[in-house]
Amino acid sequence: MTENTLRVAKIKDGTVIDHITAGYALEVLKILGIKGRVKSIVSVTLNVFSKTMGSKDMVKIEGRELKSEEVDKISLLAPRASINIIRNYKVVDKQLVKLPSVIKEIVKCKNPTCISNSNEPIKATFHVKIQDSLHIKCHYCGFIIEKQEIPKQFEQK
Ligand SMILES: [Zn+2]
Repeated sequence: MTENTLRVAKIKDGTVIDHITAGYALEVLKILGIKGRVKSIVSVTLNVFSKTMGSKDMVKIEGRELKSEEVDKISLLAPRASINIIRNYKVVDKQLVKLPSVIKEIVKCKNPTCISNSNEPIKATFHVKIQDSLHIKCHYCGFIIEKQEIPKQFEQK
């Protein structure tokens, strides 16, 4: 049994997000809308040794299975993360996050005059520009948003 299966096996039902880029676990919680007052038990483990990544963070959310749109959000911050869905102590589904080339409706454009911020029925759309150091570019006005600005958008909600 590997170090990972031991850690994953500890929760009964829920989601384990593994291989989060070290330092990003708290940002992942923000992007999922998980703050101080939640009903689920959430465990965060920082700087776990990883053979492939050096160190990584992990998040375990009990009693909640992430939706695919939530998995997409995680890919923006932790492009190597893996999502394990746990039911009755077993991993029933394991998926790697995949950074999409186009992001819709997750992030808002920061340009106040952008048409995606008007009352028009236009959905914010971004093109992913660089996959290692992430920048996303607004489809409508070309405004660039950097990776570290993304979690801030989810803090205000
Ligand atoms: Zn824009």
